[in-house]
Amino acid sequence: MTVHFPFQNSYAALPANFFARVAPTPVAAPRLIKLNRRLAVQLGLDPDLLETPEGAEILSGKSLPIGADPIAMAYAGHQFGHFVPQLGDGRAILLGEVIDKDGVRRDIQLKGSGPTPFSRRGDGRAALGPVLREYVVSEAMAALGIPTTRSLAAVVTGEHVMRETALPGAVLTRVASSHIRVGTFQYFAARGDTDAVRRLADHVIIRHYPALSGTDRPYQGLLASVIARQADLVARWLLIGFIHGVMNTDNTSISGETIDYGPCAFMDHYDPAQVFSSIDEFGRYAYANQPRIALWNLTRLAECLLPLFSDDKDKAVEQAQETLVDFGEKFNLAYRAGLRAKIGLFTEREDDHALAQALLDAMAKGQADFTLTFRRLSNAAGDPALDQEVRKLFAEPEGFDEWVARWRQRLGEEPQSAEERQAAMRAVNPAFIPRNHRVEAVIKAAMEGDDYAPFEELLIVLSKPYRDQPAFADYELPPQPHERVCQTFCGT
Ligand code: AMP
Ligand code: MG
Repeated sequence: MTVHFPFQNSYAALPANFFARVAPTPVAAPRLIKLNRRLAVQLGLDPDLLETPEGAEILSGKSLPIGADPIAMAYAGHQFGHFVPQLGDGRAILLGEVIDKDGVRRDIQLKGSGPTPFSRRGDGRAALGPVLREYVVSEAMAALGIPTTRSLAAVVTGEHVMRETALPGAVLTRVASSHIRVGTFQYFAARGDTDAVRRLADHVIIRHYPALSGTDRPYQGLLASVIARQADLVARWLLIGFIHGVMNTDNTSISGETIDYGPCAFMDHYDPAQVFSSIDEFGRYAYANQPRIALWNLTRLAECLLPLFSDDKDKAVEQAQETLVDFGEKFNLAYRAGLRAKIGLFTEREDDHALAQALLDAMAKGQADFTLTFRRLSNAAGDPALDQEVRKLFAEPEGFDEWVARWRQRLGEEPQSAEERQAAMRAVNPAFIPRNHRVEAVIKAAMEGDDYAPFEELLIVLSKPYRDQPAFADYELPPQPHERVCQTFCGT
């Protein structure tokens, strides 16, 4: 038996300037370290066959499965606010697309599979650490219910990659509903190629927003749809304490999935100004800046689409602006509704946001752990004696004391039972997130001892983030001072 991928490639059928045809570069000694068996089944692939040596060869790019049409996609992008007219897949190769069990078209891409015409000075490779980080964090995001690219497999290559030192090389198989980015539109817009922008927009509409086909103004609808997805996505990031780290326009997906996990991290203690990425000197991509940056990125998308809106430039700009205004409204709605749910409110009152914000302010002042505060608050919703467990998380608990009295009074005005409220809160406030010190420990064990047991265990814990798992209770805890990781690094 050979591994069969039921490829149906649509992107590779677009005009030749959308990509470069290039095959992965074979590696010395591929060894599968992880296969996401459930995801494989969802994609219509045979997990047993993928776990054979032939599977490892395919998942490392050493051999090509039948039906693959490998390409590196062209895109541009604003990196930290500066426009780069050509980026493209410099270390990733799209093997093709499959239709999954739910009828959704999914890209299967190898990341770290060797140089492409877009590699510039890069080697086209990935190191093991960032591959494990992306695997863990993207799968955790999926389990948390946040739109994201997925990880199908991680393979070590048996080769080293040169970074500051020589590191073990690895390849991640990434699955996305597509890899089309804001930067993909920018690539063609920057070249004044309106036909290509239109072609890309039509492809995206068919693929991601089919309800827009045949409507009066499909391209305005496209912009509005991407805005809606991104507003919802960034609200979810904030509600879960996630910091993407590199929200460049080339890392902003048109489908609304979280994409390109580089120096990303979850917050431990709540600090809206928190930055993790070692290259983010000025805090452009700080936690609380993410909605503003998303809107900035979407404004860049709108600029690309202007020629499709109207031949009258002023009219096109006006339409774009009207649509962009929706971002703030959509984001606020999603974020505020999410916060109300996090503090267990079933109804909506005008001063609820102020109540939620007051808790966040007390958390910031008291350096309280973001995830644990909401999880313990969920438990306390069922038993006021547990308020003490929340209180302990605050370095300055007075703010919490004051807040909790207000909160209890507000809860008393709703008819729901304590059990009902507790269950609802526990369903939105996770116990387990991929805490940075845990991710680092997993990488260290793999790199230093070829030990993947911590990686496997972390994946198990994170696969059920909303359930108590008494055997793994330690995984709920923030780092001890000596375990704290304050910076994360790009995979490049
Ligand atoms: P990223 O930081 O992953 O968003 O990548 C930004 C750009 O740099 C993209 O065009 C990547 O393809 C490219 N790039 C990143 N790392 C490498 C590498 N090791 N080799 C070649 N290109 C790379
Ligand atoms: Mg990127």
